[in-house]
Amino acid sequence: MFDWSKIHTVLLDMDGTLLDLHFDNHFWLEHLPKRYAEHAQISQSEAADFLKSRYQQVEGTISWYCLDYWAEQINMPIRELKQEVQHLISLRADAHDFLIALKQSGRKIVLVTNAHPDSLSLKIERTQLDKYFDELISTHQFGATKESQLLWQRLQQHVGFKNEHTLFVDDSISILDSAKTYGIKHLLAIANPDSKQPIREVTDYPAITDYSVLLNSIKSQPFV
Ligand SMILES: [Mg+2]
Repeated sequence: MFDWSKIHTVLLDMDGTLLDLHFDNHFWLEHLPKRYAEHAQISQSEAADFLKSRYQQVEGTISWYCLDYWAEQINMPIRELKQEVQHLISLRADAHDFLIALKQSGRKIVLVTNAHPDSLSLKIERTQLDKYFDELISTHQFGATKESQLLWQRLQQHVGFKNEHTLFVDDSISILDSAKTYGIKHLLAIANPDSKQPIREVTDYPAITDYSVLLNSIKSQPFV
C-alpha cells in the first residue's frame, strides 16, 4: 500500500481515526438533542432538527469544533454534558499495536486533531493516547482547521515535516482532499470510523478497516 522506507513522519487524526467516532456521533446526534430538548422544552426530534441546521452552518470551520461556540450558541454546558457520556470514549481495538509499531520504528508521530483543546484533554484522560506520540496538536492553537490550507502551512512550519516523507491518516475525505491539495504525499483513509455504522466505500484514497494489515510493512521497512 505504501513504500514505508519513504515515510519519516506520520500525522494522525484522532476522532474516527484512532478513537471510535461512536462517542462523537452519539454526543452530537443523540445526547445533546436529548438534553437540549429538556432545556428548551421541545420534542427531541425538534431539538435534533434545530441542532442539525446549526451544525450545517459551521461545518468544517473552527466554530464547529469549538466547545465555547456551542456553549454560547445554545446556552448549555457542553463540557459537562460530554462528561455525562464519557464512558463511550474508546481507542479503536486495532490502534494500540499500530501506534506501538510506529513508535518502535523510530518515526516521528504527531496527533493533529481539529478537536478543541478541552475535548482533546478529556479524550487523553480517558484513553492515555498521549503516550504514543511525540506531540499532540489541536488545530485551535493555529487558528485554522485541517480543511484550510493555512493550517497546513502553519503545521509544517511548526513540525518541520517534508511532504514527500509524510503519511497523513484521517477518516474525513474532505480533510484528506485538503492535505492532498497541500501536497502531502502519502494519504490513508479510515473506512470504518464509527464502530456502530456500516463500513463506507472510499474510492479516492487507499483505505483500511483494520490497522493490522500495515504492521508487517511498518516493521520490515525501516525509513531511510
Ligand atoms: Mg476524524
